[in-house]
Amino acid sequence: MESLIDAIGALYAEMDRQTAAFAAASGLVCPPGCGACCLSPAVEATVLEVLPLARWLVHQGQAERALAALAESRSPQCLMYQPQSEDGTQGRCSVYGVRPLLCRLFGFAAVRDRTGAPRLAACWRHQETLPEAVARTRQVLGSAPDDANAMDVPMFDTWALRLSQIDPHYGTERLPINEALGRAVQYYGLWQQMQG
Ligand code: SF4
Ligand code: SF4
Repeated sequence: MESLIDAIGALYAEMDRQTAAFAAASGLVCPPGCGACCLSPAVEATVLEVLPLARWLVHQGQAERALAALAESRSPQCLMYQPQSEDGTQGRCSVYGVRPLLCRLFGFAAVRDRTGAPRLAACWRHQETLPEAVARTRQVLGSAPDDANAMDVPMFDTWALRLSQIDPHYGTERLPINEALGRAVQYYGLWQQMQG
């Protein structure tokens, strides 16, 4: 289990390096304090993706409290988000270093169109605040393959596949993030108990 979670962490570090390079090449950057995407009720993760987060909660002694909050919550929004403005669009992730795959790629990655070519999945805040960078990036990705390769855009499907291959059993089914987290905390806690 520990080596499996370490392998996920190593993949996340590689993913972060690629998204950072892509951000620098594209000019895409999040406005300070923005957390609007964390408000979405559509954030999903596999159990595998949130195992690093589950381990972190257990090691911090926060697992019981998190499980109770997850059981009580009727909100589809991620319980790890800490809103810092009235409308909630400003805020912070309380578990940033161990956040799952979608949270690492959102706004800085592409999906494939029907021909297999990358299409930037720009977030609405980037489209609003950085229309020129979004347009330029879309143009580069849609142009000659060499230009697109030079920008080296992270692909959602490639990273999701690489991650799921670490453990297909827990790495395939996508669940609402709170549900995935609850299952991951229970799974990790059970494994720890079995270790005595
Ligand atoms: S990805 Fe978009 S919504 Fe999310 S923090 Fe960045 S700018 Fe805000
Ligand atoms: S884990 Fe963090 S980044 Fe991801 S949705 Fe929750 S608060 Fe946002």
